[in-house]
Amino acid sequence: MRPTFLALACVASLSAVALPALAAPEWTQPVKPFRIYGNTYYVGSRGPTAVLVTSPQGHVLVDATLPENATMVEANIRALGFKLSDVKVILNSHAHIDHAGAIAQVAHDTGATVYASALGAKSLALGGQDPDDPQYEPGKGYSPVKATVVSDAGHVRVGPLDIQAHATPGHTPGSTSWTWRSCQGGKCVDIVYADSLTALTNGTYRYTDAPEHPHRVEDFRKSIATVAALPCGILITTHPDASDVLERAARGKLEDPGACRVLAAHANERLDALLAKEAAESP
Ligand SMILES: [Zn+2]
Repeated sequence: MRPTFLALACVASLSAVALPALAAPEWTQPVKPFRIYGNTYYVGSRGPTAVLVTSPQGHVLVDATLPENATMVEANIRALGFKLSDVKVILNSHAHIDHAGAIAQVAHDTGATVYASALGAKSLALGGQDPDDPQYEPGKGYSPVKATVVSDAGHVRVGPLDIQAHATPGHTPGSTSWTWRSCQGGKCVDIVYADSLTALTNGTYRYTDAPEHPHRVEDFRKSIATVAALPCGILITTHPDASDVLERAARGKLEDPGACRVLAAHANERLDALLAKEAAESP
């Protein structure tokens, strides 16, 4: 069946392969925070996603969205009845401003420790100004963040919470997807927080033959396959529109074991389109 997802992270149009304007209006629009499943809550904006995973021994925040959304995300956490000081860990998907821009502020306000992949931590320390990023554009940074490194397949634990990292490079070199289990009414489901799988460049970078990144296409395909193969009870994406998170939640239809495979199929189509464009433009 044809995938129905409307858009993938950090891009609104399939035809757009250059970095879009960062001023999409929904990226700063609030969404009333809500329970996704069990101890997993949506605390992000209408645009970029942020998720809170809670426990009596402390909470984990996954992504924090744009710098100007820091107070929104913090207000969402409080509105659900949780204390900022109980947020012990912040995880990052990738170090672009729409997912990591508010981390410095929220980490300061909560005292949380930030975790990312090795290459993600490198980009966070540069405030997103990473020349190895296919979307690198000088001047589009944010407050730098010091992050603790998590290896591929590594775990981050807070009390009973156990969240696993999955390296999914491609959209950025340090892209990381995160998985955990949440339980409700005696039933537990696998939650997948899939990082963006969108092939997107600054208009000059080429995935096909960047001499400094000879395995980037191969790594990207492997990342897409990784997400497709994850145990996938509920898929959450770094932008809700990438998998219709808000619409599925409104309909009470968040559980979909095929959602990760649909996302992956769309990602492969987009990567195919970008590579075909690069081949057509090949000197
Ligand atoms: Zn991005």
